[in-house]
Amino acid sequence: MYNATNTLKCTERNSDIFSCFENTLWQFDRIQVLKNDTLRIKVTNNCPLTCNFCHHEGNLKSKNLVLNQDLIHGLKRLHTELKLMQAHLTGGEPTSYPHCRELISELKSIGYRVKMTSNGQFDSDLIMQLKDAGLDGVNFSVHTLDPQKLCSLQIQQKNNVWGLHALNRQLRNIQKALESGLEVKINTVVQNDSDIHDTLKIKDHCKNMGVSFRILNDLKQGSFSIKRIDEVLKSMSARLECINLVDKSSSYSLIMISQDGFKFKIKCIRKNILETLCEGCKERNNCMEWFYGIRIEQADDTAVVRLCMQRQDYPAIQTFEEFFTSKQFWEIL
Ligand code: SF4
Repeated sequence: MYNATNTLKCTERNSDIFSCFENTLWQFDRIQVLKNDTLRIKVTNNCPLTCNFCHHEGNLKSKNLVLNQDLIHGLKRLHTELKLMQAHLTGGEPTSYPHCRELISELKSIGYRVKMTSNGQFDSDLIMQLKDAGLDGVNFSVHTLDPQKLCSLQIQQKNNVWGLHALNRQLRNIQKALESGLEVKINTVVQNDSDIHDTLKIKDHCKNMGVSFRILNDLKQGSFSIKRIDEVLKSMSARLECINLVDKSSSYSLIMISQDGFKFKIKCIRKNILETLCEGCKERNNCMEWFYGIRIEQADDTAVVRLCMQRQDYPAIQTFEEFFTSKQFWEIL
């Protein structure tokens, strides 16, 4: 069980920022603690978009994941020894990874539930193929419903024709995913004031479609972005229903209800340290994400375990062999 002291410690980071926290911190019956059972697998660095806030899971240079026996053995051990139950495919754009279907099938046969985060920029036929391979759900990243704004979020220069095409494709694929019976969620990142209006429109769109909606802050902008989310909440006259904390992870969610009765989430980050990783870290004063969970990515010649998005050195990055005998493994266990 999570105790009250820990709970206060982990929510204090944003308690002065989210006005919805008022009078809630002491209502411990409204805090649920969930097990950290998700493994994030970065399958590729490739992506047809170039969104300016993308963190690439901490590495701009990782390769396409090599699906071999070493990787499968490592994924099996993470499932059985750390009881990780859900594999979440990330990138880049997971649908740009050529072995997506094979990987999903392998993960399902190990016993994972499999989801992915996608920008929806893929051929519509792929949805059924991924579903047939065993995919359980897709979190679509939708940051605006305005083609011009979508162009402005891209590092590579784009024109409105591209923006309209990309947006239509994204909305079409969300609809396809819903029709196929996949679990669908829409994630929206709020960076600055100009995103407030977009977020409100996306929330209405989700409400109309009956789709789950989650607001995320821009990790690089920290509290600046969180204050914009607070503005969004005020515009909706939203109230806090409960807080979902993830044990042994920096991740937690606020479950909110807007004045028009729509339930949605805000994903937040709290200070959660893995002592054997963070002790003496030079980045500690500028840490963006703290210890969130375990990630897998492909280094030059082998798949590796990543424990921190900000660092590129050991023990933040380890081979499977190193990880299963490491202090970090025992601390996470
Ligand atoms: S940057 Fe990484 S290692 Fe350093 S404090 Fe943050 S999570 Fe820990």
